[in-house]
Amino acid sequence: MKKRPILFDIKGLEARIKLDSSRLDTVEYHKKFEGAVKQLIKEIVGDKFQLKANVTRENTFSISISALPANGGTKNYQINFDVGLFRMLYDGLYILLSNNNTFSGMGISHLKFDIPTLNVPDWNSLDLAMANNEDVHFSAKRVTLHSFLYDLCLSFIIRHEIRHIANGHVDYLLSNNNVALFFENSSNGLNYLDSQTLEMDVDSCVTAGILDGLLNNELQKEQIPDELKGTREIFICVLFCLQFLFFCMPSVKITHQKNTTKNTHPNSSLRHFFCFTTAIGYLQDNFPEYVDLFVTLNKENFWEFIMGLPDANGLDISKIEKDFEWTHSDEGVAYADKVWDNWNNLKPLLEKYAYLKLAPLN
Ligand SMILES: [Zn+2]
Repeated sequence: MKKRPILFDIKGLEARIKLDSSRLDTVEYHKKFEGAVKQLIKEIVGDKFQLKANVTRENTFSISISALPANGGTKNYQINFDVGLFRMLYDGLYILLSNNNTFSGMGISHLKFDIPTLNVPDWNSLDLAMANNEDVHFSAKRVTLHSFLYDLCLSFIIRHEIRHIANGHVDYLLSNNNVALFFENSSNGLNYLDSQTLEMDVDSCVTAGILDGLLNNELQKEQIPDELKGTREIFICVLFCLQFLFFCMPSVKITHQKNTTKNTHPNSSLRHFFCFTTAIGYLQDNFPEYVDLFVTLNKENFWEFIMGLPDANGLDISKIEKDFEWTHSDEGVAYADKVWDNWNNLKPLLEKYAYLKLAPLN
């Protein structure tokens, strides 16, 4: 007989569920993932191009995009996501949500993971650390929360890659920069400033897209768990995901202007800053009544999130603090302006390849 899923926690009688990221490496999950990509493609670009999603098992963090032969006149791309990325997202969230102070009241974890750091190069290292921990069980509500945040983070990443195509980046680079494949973690032949400007462009579009999906798109609103349907709860989830993606996934932390020249992506705090300012801009244009709430929730939760990270020796948090400090210094703010201004140089080059209207010049 099939086991019936437990949907609700009854006080004192909570379900005890152990999460297992190996479920992300099954044919069934890969199908679900392909379905999610299809749904997002439809939402973002309609039928302007086709995208075949492929899951690889290199256990790295790699994402790449290639052009395929056109399919009946419609341009066709293939995107490769490594399953190690899925598992890292899944397990990273498992670790953070094992702390009952995070999203308190939304289910419980029976034990907190005792992991020294989330700052690991790949999923395998995280898996090793988790295997040395006692089993951690979540109540049903906590599982629902975990699953929603996982889907939200994954949606951010899929949207990010779709935007690299939709905004013309991929075709521009494949046509002009002598690269056969677009690699997310490479400069793709660009200088650091151009590469970071393209990342700023997609991150900004994605943030607006995520908010619009959760606030405006009926299909996506239906997928939000009942307890998280309120605007306040939606914003807390979005802010949490932005922090998780930029500060807990492999990312760049810097302390000086000179470090910016080594990176293909803006540093963690700068990516967060670009997304946060885009979110404010989106809300000002579409839901001005929510701007204050979003700003207040970010203020209330930002440092609480950082201070709640597993950090046995204090190194990770101190790196984040320094990265944040530099980004919000005069030098950091001037650098953010430089990236924004550089959009004026890139936009005219990309327009010919873009499937969607690009953001206006600064
Ligand atoms: Zn990117």
